[in-house]
Amino acid sequence: MSQLTDLAPQFIRAIAPYKAGKPVSDVVRELGLNPETVVKLASNENPLGLGSKAKAAIAQAAADLGRYPDANGFSLKAKLSTRHSVGADQITLGNGSNDVLELAAKAFLTQGTNAVFSQYAFAVYPLATQGCGAQSKVVPAANLTHDLTGFLAAIDDNTRVVFIANPNNPTGTFLAADQIRAFLKQVPSRVLVVLDEAYNEFLKPEDQYDSTQWVAEFPNLLVSRSFSKAYGLAGLRVGYAVSSPEVADLLNRVRQPFNVNSIALAAAEAALDDAEFLQLTYETNQQGLNLLQSAFERMGLPYVPSYGNFVLVKVGNSDDAGLKVFDALQRLGVIVRPVNNYGLPQWLRISIGLPAENQRFLDALPEALKVLG
Ligand SMILES: *Cc1c(COP(=O)(O)O)cnc(C)c1O
Repeated sequence: MSQLTDLAPQFIRAIAPYKAGKPVSDVVRELGLNPETVVKLASNENPLGLGSKAKAAIAQAAADLGRYPDANGFSLKAKLSTRHSVGADQITLGNGSNDVLELAAKAFLTQGTNAVFSQYAFAVYPLATQGCGAQSKVVPAANLTHDLTGFLAAIDDNTRVVFIANPNNPTGTFLAADQIRAFLKQVPSRVLVVLDEAYNEFLKPEDQYDSTQWVAEFPNLLVSRSFSKAYGLAGLRVGYAVSSPEVADLLNRVRQPFNVNSIALAAAEAALDDAEFLQLTYETNQQGLNLLQSAFERMGLPYVPSYGNFVLVKVGNSDDAGLKVFDALQRLGVIVRPVNNYGLPQWLRISIGLPAENQRFLDALPEALKVLG
């Protein structure tokens, strides 16, 4: 067996697998907790679940699963095309926006090329890059956020893709529209800029901008959006990219023919029409963020003011503080996300939950912090 696996490319064997948040069922089983009282604030999901329109669409789509899905997602693309005032030929659907990121990597990266992204950026960027045998050029963060000047310096003749998450996960930091535009003006037009906006819907109205409108001006821009976060469809896996028709055509060549399933297509389309649910999601998140951030302030815990649906908080000064407090919280039935794998071992990432869940976390936190002595 070892001979077979030794023959896989070295760049594949060197990949460190993505570490997902633990499913509640695992934690409950391992620690003997009461499943009724466990709260999961670990994967930036929508604590409201999904909206009633999406639910109804799912029930309807579930009645006809004997057929393959629409390979081109005509109906969902038509709706997105109207929404963003772009051509349907500029949209690529993905099995989650994660799929779209992988498609961009697959279409442009190969051995001998590189992708540029920030330290503390989303963990999928190095995975997608390495999966293509390309090199990751990691630009040191400035104050835990993307240093776009550093990006420009890092771009070389072999750079094919730049990944920017805005807002970024796990830091929750945000770059204003004019900063991104200034960057786009300076990036060589032969480099694809992937602007990952999985948390766009959580931005305050004054921070909102629609970067899909910039694609006409910058044909090397690809904007990716997700239905997993604000739209509450994480379990269904659906996201999309808006790019030039030429880039979309390339992504289309490397995607699986039926990469988005029928239920996901129908649910996403219905979710786009549920403005009420999106608004409730936004308000629930703002309230939760304010609650947590003001509690951290009172407790004297440093945190990164967040533009997403999660917040990064520094729980101690030792390099095992994050894991220790994570473990203590888990024993108290509160699951959060350690970020030591991101190089942030003194911090934890807390997803915003329902009011009662946020309160459960805040009640458990002082007790959990005692493990640090
Ligand atoms: C969650 C997340 C995604 C991917 O979400 P999908 O579920 O694959 O749509 C993409 N980018 C960032 C920064 C994320 O945090």
